[in-house]
Amino acid sequence: MGGIVSRTVDVVVEQPKSPGSPVARPDCVKREDNDTAARLLPTRPTLDKLRTAAAGCQACDLWKSGTQTVFGEGKRSATVMFVGEQPGNSEDLEGRPFVGPAGGLLDKALVEAGIDWTDVYVTNVVKHFKWEPRGKRRIHKKPNAAEIHACRPWLEAEIGVIKPVAIICLGSTAAQALIGAKFKVSLQRATFVPSPLAPLLTATVHPSSILRAPTDQARQTEMRQFVEDLRKIREAISRHTTARATLLPH
Ligand code: SF4
Repeated sequence: MGGIVSRTVDVVVEQPKSPGSPVARPDCVKREDNDTAARLLPTRPTLDKLRTAAAGCQACDLWKSGTQTVFGEGKRSATVMFVGEQPGNSEDLEGRPFVGPAGGLLDKALVEAGIDWTDVYVTNVVKHFKWEPRGKRRIHKKPNAAEIHACRPWLEAEIGVIKPVAIICLGSTAAQALIGAKFKVSLQRATFVPSPLAPLLTATVHPSSILRAPTDQARQTEMRQFVEDLRKIREAISRHTTARATLLPH
């Protein structure tokens, strides 16, 4: 991974469709699983085709309360994929993942850990914002197992197109979805587990949990640990890519 480059310059983004706008679904194929988004997957998926198809997804009820589908963002050639739980309030309104306060903290931590944004793809397990009203505010509500299951084909398709060297789950929802219920982020953070999904798979905390720390001091401590996890991840990716280059014929 090279030097730090601004995310806003290099990340490939398409403008989100306005809520409720008709969505073309070219090359879609009917699949058996009617409880999930699988039936909407394009036959020869690219990130653009997936994003277009996902914009019209109604495979679970979350499309009714979210403003729009918030699909993943980043280059097809990204080495590392960060997977969060779901878009937050800012992401829902902007139609882009990790653009709110938690995304800002992730930006900062990546810079401190020496991970280049141009090498990163960010996405979520669930692509619509689930919330409940509290006064005038929309408060995050955890997606349930059926919603995570319904949305999984989008995430698997993103992984299939990008084929990242490393997948990093942010928080316990993503870790349980991709690693399994037995993985405890608090105990096993930044510990790699074998997986068919990617050569390197692990989890660390979601940056939103750092923002929720009760005191400034606790926040600083959490942030230091988060950056330390990202450094460990960066080193593991470097070791993996070096080993792979050594094994390839010259
Ligand atoms: S959360 Fe996922 S499965 Fe549910 S409607 Fe949105 S994109 Fe489709």
